[in-house]
Formats: sequence, structure tokens, C-alpha cells
Amino acid sequence: MEKSDQRVPFTVENIKKCICTDCPVQNTSRCVKEKMEKTKEMMGSMESGLMSKPEDIPGLYCATGAATCKDIDTNQMCICGDCPLWEKYNLPSGELLGYYCRDGKAK
Ligand code: SF4
Ligand code: SF4
Repeated sequence: MEKSDQRVPFTVENIKKCICTDCPVQNTSRCVKEKMEKTKEMMGSMESGLMSKPEDIPGLYCATGAATCKDIDTNQMCICGDCPLWEKYNLPSGELLGYYCRDGKAK
């Protein structure tokens, strides 16, 4: 069987722990702001098992890949290093060190 390259699982627990919502790369993006509002509204349904699509979540890019919002500012500093998932999934040992919103998911 082929080994999965999914390092970080796409779960509601991980969406809640992700700190991309506080990241300067995202905080001027109108597209991200809209997705954040929608995600807040959907949280109840997600907690009861109805997951939103990855492209509707403005974070957890280490699990889902590059951001669909194109108005993010990747000249700002990535804060993944302060995220609880950074150590939990041993992301410093991966190929990419942060900026998953720009470069795709963690492997
Ligand atoms: S490591 Fe980065 S992309 Fe992954 S959940 Fe944490 S803040 Fe979000
Ligand atoms: S992946 Fe890193 S740079 Fe991108 S939004 Fe999350 S914390 Fe910021």
C-alpha cells in the first residue's frame, strides 16, 4: 500500500488549534476575513461531523495546501512556529518550514 503524504489531519480540533487566523500574512486579506466569518458560523455543524471544504477554511494550510485566497501578503512573517501543531506533528523535520499557505501542505 502507498504511504500517505498526509502529515497533519484535516479535523475540526486542528482547525481550532491553528493560529493562521492571527498571522500578519493574512490579516489584510478581505477574502480571508470573509472565510473566517463563514468558518465561525459553520463551527457548530463541523463539531457535529459535517466538515466544511478545505478551501473554505482560512487556515490549517499545513494539512490542506496553499490558500485559495490570493490577496494574502507572504512578505509578512509566518507564525507557524508558535502553533501547537508545529511540535505535535514534528513540522520542523518536514520539507517545508511554514508558509504552507504559499507553498502547499506539510510533507
Ligand atoms: S502549523 Fe501553521 S498552517 Fe499548520 S495549523 Fe499551525 S498555524 Fe496553521
Ligand atoms: S501558513 Fe504560516 S504564513 Fe501562512 S497564514 Fe499560516 S501562519 Fe501565516
